Amino acid sequence: MKQYGLILFDIDGTLTRTQNGFLPFNEAFLKTFGFAGDIRTVVPDGNTDPLIVEEIFAKAGRKLEAGEAWRQTFAVDLRDSYARAVEEGRTTVRALPGALELVRALGNIPGLYSGIVTGNFELTARWKLEAAGLGGYPPLGACGSDACDRADLPRIAKGRCEEMVGAPFGPERCVVVGDTPKDLEAARANRMKCVLVGTGRFSPAQLRLCGPDACLHDLADTDAATGALLALLQNPVG
Ligand SMILES: [Mg+2]
Repeated sequence: MKQYGLILFDIDGTLTRTQNGFLPFNEAFLKTFGFAGDIRTVVPDGNTDPLIVEEIFAKAGRKLEAGEAWRQTFAVDLRDSYARAVEEGRTTVRALPGALELVRALGNIPGLYSGIVTGNFELTARWKLEAAGLGGYPPLGACGSDACDRADLPRIAKGRCEEMVGAPFGPERCVVVGDTPKDLEAARANRMKCVLVGTGRFSPAQLRLCGPDACLHDLADTDAATGALLALLQNPVG
């Protein structure tokens, strides 16, 4: 049977795991905005970086300047802080088991495309994928720099993929792979399928309760993960 579809991967907790990521985030925050903010005071999982910054400002009772200028400055400072923290060994960014093998395996299936949907700014998303050994995989997508609301991102990623491929994908031919209930909400807001993976802060049992189309402990078993994704595309009406 011909496969034809789009798999949209979240990054943090799904393809990669960052340890002590709060260090570079907080350093970049101080550098860009001139006062101390702590990402640990907000819930980062499934959130987007622009909204995380807004929440930290709100908690501090400060007003964030309108416009886009701060985003670009902060994204550059954040990427530089990450690079420095990793080089100094204070922070680690690694691919989760099976992530590289899975995106490579999917890339070998004709008619199947992979992309990213992440709350990271594009600069940090690309940097994290590179740092984790996933540079170039997957190539397309949408990031926190494209929209603050995560639910807008799958649609943007789908549009970019359609432009590249030159053909439309029905939403039933798209699967979001993530590690939080917010990934599922973003998928459903776009009438897409969703596979949740228990490699983030939520256990598979907690994720299952949210009602994804499939739930995996991790991506370590490439055949099992590929099978779960293809099964959803072969039964697109659900
Ligand atoms: Mg995540």
